[in-house]
Amino acid sequence: MHIFAIANQKGGVGKTTTSVNLAAALAQAGQRTLLIDLDPQGNATMGSGIDKRTLPRSVYHVLLGLATLDEVCTVSPSGHYAVMPANRDLAGAEVELVDLEQRELRLKKALAEHVGNTDFVLIDCPPSLSMLTLNGLCAAHGVIIPMQCEYYALEGLSDLVNTIKQVHKNFNRDLKIIGLLRVMFDPRSTLSNQVSAQLEQHFGDKVFKTLVPRNVRLAEAPSYGVPGILFDKNAKGAQAYLAFAHEMIERAKTWETERRAT
Ligand code: ATP
Ligand code: MG
Repeated sequence: MHIFAIANQKGGVGKTTTSVNLAAALAQAGQRTLLIDLDPQGNATMGSGIDKRTLPRSVYHVLLGLATLDEVCTVSPSGHYAVMPANRDLAGAEVELVDLEQRELRLKKALAEHVGNTDFVLIDCPPSLSMLTLNGLCAAHGVIIPMQCEYYALEGLSDLVNTIKQVHKNFNRDLKIIGLLRVMFDPRSTLSNQVSAQLEQHFGDKVFKTLVPRNVRLAEAPSYGVPGILFDKNAKGAQAYLAFAHEMIERAKTWETERRAT
């Protein structure tokens, strides 16, 4: 089982779009996939075709120990992957977790109790370096960082990289940066290309080969509760996320070998 957090404390950089489309593309490629919505906004839940307003239980209950992950999980009717959904209840968890022991390890514990076979777990983190994101980072083997190739992107990146280093040092020795995914990419923009080249220079093969272009079909899909790769599978954005899933599956084979060796 590979567990990845999709994180970037910057808002609106494509975390949820990446989580939902990668989950759907992995599922389509025959991988058993679980998407965990760790954001009180519940966008990954809605984008998977699940109504966040009518949830009997959500990830909130799992983090507080009121339900198990398997009790709360449901299936995306449009994307055919499992979903641990979220809604506004989760905003309260931040405060309620403060009094609990090992509050940063609640999600990790819940995943350890997860029965059933899952190949990929994707955790859609909120736009902050909060206790929720910390739970995501503590539970994961690696982080996928979606980012836009714009001027301020690199600045925010160092905060995130430092947080990942801290979590690695203090809580989770498994954690590593799996890769940076360039999203909403505009190949005609000089700045996009410059920032993209800088990223490759600094992060080398940590930059995914797949580039996700800015594509309006990806932005339209959530309002239908359908992942973009299924909403219009021929659109450029959908094609990119399908390619990204295959890049992930290929890389997963290497991690598998690495982990067996250690
Ligand atoms: P938040 O920080 O609020 O959780 P996020 O990082 O999860 O945001 P998304 O919600 O995935 O970001 O994307 C932000 C907006 O950009 C959404 O309206 C989404 O539909 C749109 N968007 C994301 N990726 C693309 C793309 N490749 N092309 C066009 N629009 C996109
Ligand atoms: Mg989001």
